[in-house]
Amino acid sequence: MSEDCLFCQIVAGKIPADTVLETDRILAFRDINPQAPVHVLVIPKKHIVSAMELGDADGEDLAACFEAAREVARNERLDSGGFRLVTNHGAEAGQSVFHLHFHVLGGRAMGWPPG
Ligand code: AMP
Repeated sequence: MSEDCLFCQIVAGKIPADTVLETDRILAFRDINPQAPVHVLVIPKKHIVSAMELGDADGEDLAACFEAAREVARNERLDSGGFRLVTNHGAEAGQSVFHLHFHVLGGRAMGWPPG
C-alpha cells in the first residue's frame, strides 16, 4: 500500500468506488469519468506503478487482472461484440493514476488508432 496513492485508498476502503468484482488479488470498479457505455478499471490490490514496474514476482497478480477483465467482459455482455483492454504508461499515453490499471472499455464501436 502506498499512502498517497488514490487506488490504494480505494482498495483500503478509504475512498468509495462502484465495485463490480473483487478477489483477494484484484479490484474492479467503474471509472468515475466513463469514456464508453462500459468503462471498468481492473487493478491489482498490490501497489505497482505501471506496466513498466512489473517484475517476476507479479505474475499471479497480472494473471488475476486478465482473468478479472474477462469476467467483467462476460458480466457486462461485451464478450461477443468485443471490447478494448488498455493500460497507459507515462505522460504521452496520458497515465494519470500511478497504480497499474487496465481499462475495460466497451458498449460502442472503438476507433483505431486511439487518440
Ligand atoms: P489513466 O489516465 O490511464 O491513468 O486512467 C486513470 C483513470 O482513473 C481515469 O480514466 C479516471 O477517470 C479514473 N479515476 C480517477 N479517479 C477515480 C475514482 N475515484 N474512481 C474511479 N475512477 C477514477
